[in-house]
Order: sequence, then C-alpha cells, then structure tokens
Amino acid sequence: MRIAVLKERAPGESRVALTPETAKKFIALGATVAVEEGAGSGAAIPDGDYAQAGAEVVPAANAVKDADIVMGIQAPDVALLKGAKPGSWVAATFDPFRNRELVDAYATAGYEALSMEFMPRITRAQSMDVLSSQSNLAGYKAVITAANQYGRALPMMMTAAGTVQAAKVFVMGVGVAGLQAIATAKRLGAQVSATDVRSATKEQIQSLGAKAVFVEDVEGIEGEGSGGYATEMSEEYQKAQAELVSSHIAKQDIVITTALIPGKPAPRLISDAQIATMKPGSVIFDLAVAQGGNVEGSQPDQAVEKHGVKIIGYSNTAGHLAADASALFARNLYNFLSAFWDEEAGKPVLDEEIGDAVRLTQGGKVVNERLLAT
Ligand code: NAD
Repeated sequence: MRIAVLKERAPGESRVALTPETAKKFIALGATVAVEEGAGSGAAIPDGDYAQAGAEVVPAANAVKDADIVMGIQAPDVALLKGAKPGSWVAATFDPFRNRELVDAYATAGYEALSMEFMPRITRAQSMDVLSSQSNLAGYKAVITAANQYGRALPMMMTAAGTVQAAKVFVMGVGVAGLQAIATAKRLGAQVSATDVRSATKEQIQSLGAKAVFVEDVEGIEGEGSGGYATEMSEEYQKAQAELVSSHIAKQDIVITTALIPGKPAPRLISDAQIATMKPGSVIFDLAVAQGGNVEGSQPDQAVEKHGVKIIGYSNTAGHLAADASALFARNLYNFLSAFWDEEAGKPVLDEEIGDAVRLTQGGKVVNERLLAT
C-alpha cells in the first residue's frame, strides 16, 4: 500500500494533507508513504521532518508512481496522477458541485475520487470531517482578522484616561465556524450576538454567553435541518430576516457572516443599503466570500471599503492558519483511512454508509447520488 502526497498547486494554498505525525501513523499500519519535496513548506514543515518520520521525500512523479492512494487538500489535476495504479483512490476536497469538470476527468481517467466534503454528518465520522476542522479554524481567524482591521479595542477597558467601550460583534450563521467565531469574540471581551435560520442554534448561542437574535414572526428551520444543513429560505423569511438585520446591524461594530447552503451559492444576508447604516470604521468579515458571498460587494482576498465600512474575506481562510489547518486535515484523513484499515488486505476497505457518501467516481463513471441528482 503506497500513499502519496503532492505539494498543493492551487494558488494561495498553503496547507498540506500529511504531517510527520500522520506519516508515522500510516507507516505503523504497514503503508509506504511518499511526499513531494517542499510539500510542507507553506505549513512550516521541513522535508527533513517527513524523512525523519520515515516518509520518502521525492519529486512529484516519483511520489505518485505506483501509488494506491493519493491524499490532497484540494484534489490535483488528473495529469499529476500519471503513474499511479489504475483505479487508485484520491482522498481530498473536490468542491464537487462547482467543479464537475474535475470530477468527470477523474471518472474518465479511472481514478476513484473520495470527496472529503461529502463525509456524512454522523457521530462516527466526526473525527474525519474536514469541513468541521477547517471551519472551526476559519471562524477563529475571521474574528482575529476583523479585530485587527478594527481601529478600536474589543474589550471594555477602564483606564485612568477614561473608559473604552466594548465592541459589539454580530455573527450571522451559527454552524461550526459561527460557533467558534462567537467563542473567540467572547474571549476577546466583545459583546456578542448571533443569528441563524435553524432554531437549534438558539440554545448553542446562549450557552456561549451571546445574545440570540432571531426572526420570530416567520418560521425558520425547526431543529437541526437535514444533516445539520440549512436550505434556501422562503421569500417571506428572507424579507423578515432583512428587516431584522437592518435594525440590528446599524448598532454593530464587527459583523462576521458564515452562512452557507450546500450545493447553492451563499445566501445574501447584507445589502449595500444595510452597510450604509453601519458606523464608519465598522468591519465585516465575509467567510462565505469564496462561495458567492453573504455581503453585497465583498471580494475574495481584497479589502473593500463601502460607506466607511471595511469588508474583508479570504478565499481560503483556513489556509491563513496553515500549520494548524494542515495538522487537523491530515488527522481527519488518517482517522478516515485507518478506521477502515483491513489488516489482512493491508489496505482500507470502505463500508457503504461512509464509502458511498464520499465516493464520487468508480469504474470510469460518476457514481455519487448527490452529484447524479443535480
Ligand atoms: P454550514 O457551513 O453549511 O453553514 C453555516 C451556517 O449558516 C449554518 O448554521 C446554517 O444554518 C447557516 N445559514 C444558512 N443560511 C442562512 C441564512 N439565510 N441566514 C442565517 N444563517 C444561515 O454549516 P456547518 O458549519 O457545516 O454546520 C451545520 C450543522 O451541522 C451544525 O449544527 C453542526 O454542529 C452540524 N455538524 C454535525 C457534524 C456531525 O455530527 N458529524 C459535523 C459537522 C457539523
């Protein structure tokens, strides 16, 4: 069983899918591990650390040659997989709904694409869930970045020269990223409020010591929503939400938006007219900017200023914490592959519940139900 890891090629991608820690663990399972030279440089992992862990550190083509499994953060182009065994697995993120061409190319080339974003939201798979591990770090980084851009302090400070008021932070979308954003802003001493369309989040917001701000007159999603995910809301709900946001947002100093709907563009939560009601110097961090944005006018990796309000958002927020993000992503991959390791076969053998959920392509075809349904 040969596992290969390449240096990420996507612009701005600093993470790596293997750490020396996980290399050691895969080797302990009986696998050979090969990593491309320089693969860890963006995450501050020198080649020597991989070599010390027992991995081969070699050029890309040598790493991939005869590989049974290739692991990545973002799935590599099929051309880079030349030399891997026929039917070999590629475990990485594929962004399958928006990157259908890549999925089709994997099918044509005969590789088995395993999309880590499609990991089912079940207890057993929590430790394998890259969306959770990366969103958690992204929620933290969004608050830190916004705080850094904000020309005032976050906590209340009583000084001899007078009192500095606590900043008001509003978090929109309370999934994994939103919960971490609330916790981080609270720790920094801000006054925090938050909203979501799923009623189950109300209690979670309150248990973190923040104020829940919810649309009351139109029903949202009762409980968790399917798989924990939201759907597109009715026009009536959107209107009620816009009114609620308009009255709340004018009083906020920092707004963090995190709202996503799987397979759909991010919902628009803040309009230009609403931005105009905010105080000059306020900051909005749009965590959904790469998925179309929750905020009108937000641009990936660019600071935009509108009506005196700074609007920021990264195309790859977790990538701004490359070392931690890589460590958690690499562990997610190890937890996934090792959970299915069949000692006799000397390789992982996936079950139906998780295997069928993450497998996009097999035997030259696209086989994933969620993809075939679109
Ligand atoms: P996500 O990234 O898909 O979306 C972020 C948040 O945006 C969600 O809370 C969603 O409800 C919210 N949202 C969508 N549209 C909105 C709108 N118009 N206005 C306001 N908010 C809106 O979500 P996520 O971070 O992946 O987490 C979703 C849920 O899944 C959470 O409850 C989480 O705890 C759960 N989860 C479970 C597991 C597991 O059991 N293995 C793993 C990860 C997450």
